[in-house]
Amino acid sequence: MTAAHESPPRRQVAMVFDLNKCMGCQSCSVACKMLWTRGPGEAHQWWCTTNTMPGRGTPRDWEQMGGGYDGDGNVVLGALPSAEEFGGGWGFNKEEVFYGGKGQSVHLTPTTAEGTPPNWGPNWDEDQGAGEFPNAYYFYLPRICNHCTRPACVEACPSGAMYKRPTDGIVLRDEDRCRGSRRCMQACPYKKIYFNHVRNVAQHCNLCFPRLEQGVAPACARNCPGRLMFVGMLDDKRDPVHRLVHEWKVALPLHAEFGTEPNVFYVPPLSPYRLREDRSIDTETMRIPPAYLESLFGPGVHEALATLRREIERMRAGGSSDLLDTLIAYQWKTLFGPFDKEPAVVDAVREELR
Ligand code: SF4
Repeated sequence: MTAAHESPPRRQVAMVFDLNKCMGCQSCSVACKMLWTRGPGEAHQWWCTTNTMPGRGTPRDWEQMGGGYDGDGNVVLGALPSAEEFGGGWGFNKEEVFYGGKGQSVHLTPTTAEGTPPNWGPNWDEDQGAGEFPNAYYFYLPRICNHCTRPACVEACPSGAMYKRPTDGIVLRDEDRCRGSRRCMQACPYKKIYFNHVRNVAQHCNLCFPRLEQGVAPACARNCPGRLMFVGMLDDKRDPVHRLVHEWKVALPLHAEFGTEPNVFYVPPLSPYRLREDRSIDTETMRIPPAYLESLFGPGVHEALATLRREIERMRAGGSSDLLDTLIAYQWKTLFGPFDKEPAVVDAVREELR
């Protein structure tokens, strides 16, 4: 097996999520679910999740589960998240509600695989956030596999099933070689790998590689009504993804301290100002604590937010901003770099294969 960091890919597909545009609608999560995880053993699998922050996330308390690399560059095997911590996979009394002839008297009720009422789910603490009225705050954080440059999952896999594709840097797995050791799940610090107990294989986001190969953006990005998901080649200097990450430096990796060098980047959320007791606006203090954002996105978050604010002021003063025009994405195709073809292209290919 080739160590994860020994043969860097020639190209790298990357994504940027602008958190200022995410409204937590879950279109990305559902689009992914409908496309990829509707089979046996996949009920609890949501390769794309969007959680309220601050919050416990999916799987529950994933930020404390460990994984990634230690200071000496060794892979750390962290906790193994259970299906229950991912939120299980609920069943509903659809037969009774829709076909039982009980009209309005019964309602959809979720149950776990054991037939009990659930006490956790992929979005259990949605919109709770933190802080006290009138200074409560929260924002949404969509997450997929980061297709890391140093994928701890690949390095930890004992069967060589996981690999980083040299042509575009996507982290994929050969399910025929997977023996279900689940070490990848322990090593991934983002806890973005799921275990299929029916098929005895691990599974994770594949960045919709069959779509990318046809020049079509991943389902999560293509279905996002907020137009917040950019997809492109990180090494192409003209690509908005490259410019947001490397030129304007407003897109940052999540928990870079895990050491895996993620290739999903986030434009951090701007925050309203705090209100004082008399409800006047304190223009010196942001409602989302900057220290909290730094704990997620690193020290570069302060300069990134300062850049965004400067550009907003420039536009408000009647000027123009290449950065804000890029983030606004007036035309949807500008989000997707070389992956701006219509999804119907993929459908056409699928028809040919039938
Ligand atoms: Fe591997 Fe986790 Fe990084 Fe994805 S996010 S490449 S599963 S370490």
